Amino acid sequence: MRFDVLVIGAGPAGLTAGLYASRAGWRAACLERLAPGGQAALTSRVENYPGFEEPVSGFELTRRMEAQARQFGVEIVRDEAEDLSSGPDGAVVKAAADTFEARAVVVASGARPRKLGVPGEEELTGRGVSYCATCDGPFFKGQAVAVVGGGDSALEEAVFLARLCSRVYVVHRRDEFRAVRVLVDRALSHENIVPVWGSVVTRIVGSEGVEAMEVRNVATGAAQRLDVAGVFMYVGLLPNSEFLAGRVAVDEAGYVITDEDMLTSAPGVFAAGDVRKKSLRQISTAVGDGAIAGMSAVRHLQGLETGRK
Ligand code: NAP
Repeated sequence: MRFDVLVIGAGPAGLTAGLYASRAGWRAACLERLAPGGQAALTSRVENYPGFEEPVSGFELTRRMEAQARQFGVEIVRDEAEDLSSGPDGAVVKAAADTFEARAVVVASGARPRKLGVPGEEELTGRGVSYCATCDGPFFKGQAVAVVGGGDSALEEAVFLARLCSRVYVVHRRDEFRAVRVLVDRALSHENIVPVWGSVVTRIVGSEGVEAMEVRNVATGAAQRLDVAGVFMYVGLLPNSEFLAGRVAVDEAGYVITDEDMLTSAPGVFAAGDVRKKSLRQISTAVGDGAIAGMSAVRHLQGLETGRK
């Protein structure tokens, strides 16, 4: 299949890049391996995306972004990019099912939750260990659960779980949360959210499902067993950039390096959103990146056309 602009990923960054390219009159498609919306679609409550006085669910917000992009002609193609090669006239993206040609590419493949790597995590994933509170929280109605991590995601999802679960332990390796103040205050105002400070997870226990989580206090070495039925991991993100290995410059953590126009080290290849090296990963900044990347792709195409005349 051939497009003018091929966007890899249909989260907020990718859908926005597609929207801008499509509205400028170019044939644009978003390649998406799962469902459109990306990680944002799994966020229970978004209250810092401008334009919504009442919090909006990540699912609803991204559903609208997808509908808007489709309305302006963006095609959404279900496939998973596995390799990208680019030259001065365009790029070839090899995906699991198909090969795509495009004259400009926007990489908006996002990031995924990091695994903690403790005993029991792998074995009990899907049986009590989860990386998505909005997806799996309702299974633990009235039961005790634990959230691991101290960032925005951990506290936001702890608050979501507190409305469903009898008790929500928040296990954090330090004595101070990383999350923004408003989320910290909100979490600590819930009586059934119980911080477990300065502690690391040593093991998740269970056979058919999670039965408990063992933690160790990093200062005292004291072990503690938390009887929980669910464990929600929010210990950061990993960029989905493996398929770009050797094709564009990335930093030591694998995030794609761009200039202010979202151009990567490869001509005609732009990057936007969580996969990009940047200081603030939010839906609003993903959308901003996507707009710039989409317009940069358009300018690149205009340059190719002019060069051809
Ligand atoms: P994050 O900000 O990277 O936080 C990860 C948390 O996990 C940190 O508290 C970190 O502890 C902890 N952690 C990391 N590795 C660990 C390990 N091996 N063992 C124990 N704990 C570990 O990740 P995030 O919360 O998923 O957020 C990702 C990005 O999305 C951030 O930029 C965030 O601001 C953004 N986000 C924003 C919102 C919002 O604006 N409402 C909501 C969700 C996410 P330390 O603090 O000790 O490093």
